[in-house]
Amino acid sequence: MNIIESFRLDGRVALVTGAGKGIGEGIAVGLAEAGADLALVARTQADLERVAERIRALGRQALVVPCDVADVAAIPAAVGRVTDAYGRIDILVNGAGIQRRMTVLEATVEGWEEVINTNLRSVYFMTQAAGKVMVGRRRGKVISIASMTAYRGFHMISPYGISKASIANFPKYLAVEWAPYNIQANAVAPGWITTPMTAQMGEDRIRWVCEHVPQAKFGTPRDVVLGVQCVTGDGEIVNGGARVVKHVAGFDLVRGQAYQVKATLDGRSAESNVTAQGANQVVTLTLPGN
Ligand code: NAD
Repeated sequence: MNIIESFRLDGRVALVTGAGKGIGEGIAVGLAEAGADLALVARTQADLERVAERIRALGRQALVVPCDVADVAAIPAAVGRVTDAYGRIDILVNGAGIQRRMTVLEATVEGWEEVINTNLRSVYFMTQAAGKVMVGRRRGKVISIASMTAYRGFHMISPYGISKASIANFPKYLAVEWAPYNIQANAVAPGWITTPMTAQMGEDRIRWVCEHVPQAKFGTPRDVVLGVQCVTGDGEIVNGGARVVKHVAGFDLVRGQAYQVKATLDGRSAESNVTAQGANQVVTLTLPGN
């Protein structure tokens, strides 16, 4: 298959959570551009209707499914609406997420649960519900939006970082259980991206970010789409959990600097020496046997 064609998603159905704005909206539109029909999940119907219009303007179908994913009891019905409409789910993107600022000393159980339930519990049970559909059809791609906060510490966002570290780890377990069903799972871990979430950052924090990012700027949802596109098409050979898609707009990837990139899965490993081309680079490794 031609390498460009391998990224095409014609005839595929993608369910994207958090699709009402920001990164989720960018991913939904990007997948539609690649040919997929979309099921759009978030809480606010008006946001979803606006994104659906963008997707229909591209000639693709868009189903609006308002759902609070923190309410796990609501998830099976939301997934049922998607299968009723399309009869399949080929791609799941777990994008819904929130960030709340609290120190470890001041955190409350309510604050912890709000973040963990929205960011992590939802991903687990949305993946379970969509996975049942994928397992039945013996094909599927699960992509969860983690964060660079999975890999290093920051002030005042420990529940968020813990939720994202778990999301980054989840594909390893999915790979072990679902590889026999031809389902691939990956996580994409963006750095700072311009969205309504980061629009709330104060000037001091924005300046701090720009001082620490080699390109001295935030990424865009479009940058994240490129990371997601790498693991949705037929042509990709990366199978779940190996830490191969990272540093999308990450701040510790310096142009011109050499990095040794390694991935290990089930005792199989691959590595490569890469000279960084920029902060938005995606490195793909092939594991032996894939
Ligand atoms: P955003 O606040 O701009 O958009 C979040 C989307 O998720 C919205 O559509 C919102 O309605 C939806 N959402 C939130 N809680 C929900 C719930 N309980 N049920 C259903 N939908 C819900 O955020 P964003 O910046 O676009 O972030 C999207 C994802 O990317 C999040 O998981 C976030 O943690 C992650 N992320 C963001 C950045 C960044 O810099 N913006 C960096 C790394 C990772």
